[in-house]
Amino acid sequence: MRANAASGQASAPMTKAEFKAEVAAWAKRIGVQPRELHIRQMRRKWGSCSTEGRVTLNQELLSASADIRREVIVEELLHLRVPNHGKLFRALKRAYLAS
Ligand SMILES: [Zn+2]
Repeated sequence: MRANAASGQASAPMTKAEFKAEVAAWAKRIGVQPRELHIRQMRRKWGSCSTEGRVTLNQELLSASADIRREVIVEELLHLRVPNHGKLFRALKRAYLAS
């Protein structure tokens, strides 16, 4: 997912452990298990997902707003189930973010 300049500022950054716990909770909910989870600095994207099940998330998400964080987590984890941005992907993403 592409990083956006208008990402919104949040309060104090969360810890990596808290962030990982949030990712784990969403993974459970979506029914996926990332083979690897990396949190690191990324230049132009919020996150990415490889076909081998490796999810990488931008560490700047630790200080992003909860909405952005949630959207990126759901987006990348959902790619473990649906590896494209087709109709099914968009419907599932909408449903998870609405719940
Ligand atoms: Zn995507």
